[in-house]
Amino acid sequence: MKSKIASNREVKRGYFRMEFEFSGDAEPGQFVMLKVAEHNDPLLRRPMSIAGIENGVMSVIFKAVGRGTALPAEKRSGDYIDVIGPFGSIFSPPQTGTVLLVGGGIGVAPLLFWTRRNPSRMAAAFIGGASENDILCSDGFSEVHIATENGSLGRKGLVTAPLVDHPAYRDKTGYLLACGPTGMLKAIDQLAAKDGLRGELSLEERMGCGFGVCLGCVCDTTGGRKRMCVEGPVFKTGEVLWRI
Ligand SMILES: Cc1cc2nc3c(=O)[nH]c(=O)nc-3n(C[C@H](O)[C@H](O)[C@H](O)COP(=O)(O)OP(=O)(O)OC[C@H]3O[C@@H](n4cnc5c(N)ncnc54)[C@H](O)[C@@H]3O)c2cc1C
Repeated sequence: MKSKIASNREVKRGYFRMEFEFSGDAEPGQFVMLKVAEHNDPLLRRPMSIAGIENGVMSVIFKAVGRGTALPAEKRSGDYIDVIGPFGSIFSPPQTGTVLLVGGGIGVAPLLFWTRRNPSRMAAAFIGGASENDILCSDGFSEVHIATENGSLGRKGLVTAPLVDHPAYRDKTGYLLACGPTGMLKAIDQLAAKDGLRGELSLEERMGCGFGVCLGCVCDTTGGRKRMCVEGPVFKTGEVLWRI
């Protein structure tokens, strides 16, 4: 679908929030594939987590790291972008209890969407990043705990520090929903196993086609080899066999 861009703002240095027209719906945890160039360089679309859909407008949040994200960063309102989706599995926490949302960097995007769709749920968000510049959209959550590695905002250190101090983590009633860098997800998975909590992790690894054909994003799980784009990107804690 050729979607008209409503806005594309640099929300923090190097981080962009793009809003574009989108007819249809999606569920929190799912992603879309953006064709970033007019021609075929780069050839592959880039997956982007859905950060929200309201009134026919979808938003994504991205960090310009390479060519595939530098090109959409140059788009302006009124331009068009080629979008396909939504794809992938969804967050499905139990109906009751506290949800502990853990986001690293741009991993906050699908958690923001989940919060918007579940405004009456008891939830606490834990947002981490290298520095203050890497903490995004913290005002989108009612209870938020921030950690930065250099101490420029919130607690100094990793996001797992405030997480394990939270009452719903300590009494094991909290259910984890996490998205962020692989190292952070692996650490949360190991903590959840050690401390007896359950939850779901959304992986943001490299991906080829986005709809299950190329097998470029296959990962090992306790249930065998799974495609991150079809059976994932959301997996249960304890399910992924980490390669790092
Ligand atoms: C399900 C899913 C959802 C995603 N959601 C978002 C999102 O909401 N916002 C966002 O900014 N990005 C997201 N990504 C990652 C995004 O699709 C791109 O891979 C990434 O932004 C880099 O693209 P690029 O073309 O700019 O970089 P490239 O030119 O492809 O690479 C530049 C550098 O970044 C490294 N790199 C590229 N992609 C990744 C990756 N996924 N993990 C680790 N290192 C990488 C490369 O090795 C290289 O060093 C998501 C990925 C998946 C699979």
